[in-house]
Amino acid sequence: MQNHSRSGARSAKSQLLALELAASPGSTNALPHFRYVGNLHGNEPTGRVLTLALAEYICEARGEDPQVAQILAGMHLWLMPSANPDGFDQRTRENINNVDLNRDFPDRFSKPPSLMPTGSEQAEVRALMDWSRRIGFTASAAMHEGALVANYPMDGTPDRSTQYAASPDDGTFRHLATKYAQAHTRMALPTNKEFPNGGITNGAAWYPIYGSMQDWVYLATGCFELTVEVSESKWPPMASLGALWKENKASLLGLPLLAVLGGVRGVVKASNPLRQGGIDTPLRANITVAGIETVVQSREGTGVFARPLAPGTYELQARAHGYTTATQQTTVPDDGTGVEVLFELKRVASSGRARRAGGEEAADGAAALDSVAAWGVNPGGALRAPKRHSTISMAVGASCIENTQNQQLASLLASQIARAAAIFNIDEVIVLDDVERPDRDVPSPAAALLARILQFMETPQYLRKALIPMHPDLKFAGLMPPLDATHHLRTHEWGTYREGVVRHSAPGDGSVVDIGLEHDALIPEQVAPGTRVTLHVGAAPQLGQVHGQAVHGASLAAPTDPRAKEGRAWGYLTRVAPSLQALLQASPFEGGYDLCVGTSERGECTPAEELQFRPYRHALLVFGGPAGLEACLRGDAWAAKYRDVAQLFDRYVNTCFHQGSRTIRTEEALFISLTFLDPALQRCCMD
Ligand SMILES: [Zn+2]
Repeated sequence: MQNHSRSGARSAKSQLLALELAASPGSTNALPHFRYVGNLHGNEPTGRVLTLALAEYICEARGEDPQVAQILAGMHLWLMPSANPDGFDQRTRENINNVDLNRDFPDRFSKPPSLMPTGSEQAEVRALMDWSRRIGFTASAAMHEGALVANYPMDGTPDRSTQYAASPDDGTFRHLATKYAQAHTRMALPTNKEFPNGGITNGAAWYPIYGSMQDWVYLATGCFELTVEVSESKWPPMASLGALWKENKASLLGLPLLAVLGGVRGVVKASNPLRQGGIDTPLRANITVAGIETVVQSREGTGVFARPLAPGTYELQARAHGYTTATQQTTVPDDGTGVEVLFELKRVASSGRARRAGGEEAADGAAALDSVAAWGVNPGGALRAPKRHSTISMAVGASCIENTQNQQLASLLASQIARAAAIFNIDEVIVLDDVERPDRDVPSPAAALLARILQFMETPQYLRKALIPMHPDLKFAGLMPPLDATHHLRTHEWGTYREGVVRHSAPGDGSVVDIGLEHDALIPEQVAPGTRVTLHVGAAPQLGQVHGQAVHGASLAAPTDPRAKEGRAWGYLTRVAPSLQALLQASPFEGGYDLCVGTSERGECTPAEELQFRPYRHALLVFGGPAGLEACLRGDAWAAKYRDVAQLFDRYVNTCFHQGSRTIRTEEALFISLTFLDPALQRCCMD
């Protein structure tokens, strides 16, 4: 019933060890997972003792203690006695590099705000992050010393002031912390002078910190983590360790049961199993609670999920791509036994457009204008995408252009990249400038040509003359197979949205916009002539008269509106990234990329149907040049600190296992990989 785990997790000197206790250890998806982590601060060793005492007790009492039996039957319990063995050896709070590991996690208030690894994390933190992502814990607690209190998220405040920072799950966190404190022999008593109000505290209300494990694990992986301070004095004397175990024993046994089994748990599966040969089809689905933005996912292959929730009545929703959304009202009882629910989702015939649909509020004029500025080769542009609107970006190394024999073939390759982006509804194409060049701030000729052709092809034909300056790079662009994209409306076609370019504008008169039709459109806003705009033109033409001219009535829209509101693919943004850092960090989307996938023949070989990503809003797919992404790393100063290119990404994936040619050309790799990755991307987006 136990399993030692040490896969790849190391500090500078030592291994990070975790022990898994479960009825069937090693099987990841049949049951939810809980973990205790001790000794993240090297000079706070009590967690080492408590986790080992807990392991010993569970092994000894499994035939007698009903709580132990419930734990083993209902979950995988993981124990990591020391997350900072080097700090323990030298008896310091920090690790061997003098870094406080509980300040080293990516943080939502860092600049740029991102929960993605920056690459500068300590080895211990990287290992903890990888472990969190790989297992997908339902809940957890980390053990510290220096006080007697159960601390819960959030740890940071936007203005760094000391004040209560409630998470979306504040009620549930208070519930979990309160129960931990009450099961402790003295944490919740009035004799606990520093925390007389029940022995619990919100992290930031006590003192705000940034880069904590607690906040990262909750925000990045949806795991409900507490930080329990189990001893007022640090490094307590050996003689007191037995007493510390007795004080915490009931809490340590109770918290996993309450968090994993005491909220809502259940299974998501496809209804009408007869069509699947009479076998149940479990589904990976997003589970949400009305009024709370936290997303919890059911597990691949089993459809099992668990979500901590305080007692109360809730409306739960299960959503899976290609299925109808199911809603259920359910009540979590206050006796800690939790509630079980079953979601059966119906298959929908066609949902190709559902990914883009959404009920976002209309962007105001200022936001729309802001978005317009991002169209074009403009690394500094800022697109404010509406909330809850997922996007997929793809990056292609410019060195593929460098390797073509002549400009005609280079143009053809660029057009094939553009067509791949259009066919797979890609929202942003990034030209990664991986070509050797004297001045890294100046794009290489290959990157410039690729970006120009990508932009040319994405622009509707009737706007090209006004928007795209003549350039030798575009000599063959007009001969390439067109995108025929859904936003390239012909003169006889009408759609709710239409791309245009502002002809002229005047204060009080609004702007006249060329939309490629016999009559121009008129919008009330004053926009600079020559600007590309997305217009809402209504379900049917509405012609009016202005100064004796017939014009279409229209209003300014954000370029993301057709996707967000109607599920229509609407072209892609183009930008040039001079480096891997610019590629990963200069995202035009709010919050940056939250899922980065690299592709390589040296990546992991997971079959497409088993591939699962964590839920994302803004995914980035990265394709290297002919020499692979490994070559990009060698020429990149910022990325040099990564020993392995795979560390730059959440996943590093091989998309063609049994290739019969020694080489796969860039244009071939794009179509193979996008076909391979698309189902997993559809399943895992947060829309
Ligand atoms: Zn600590």
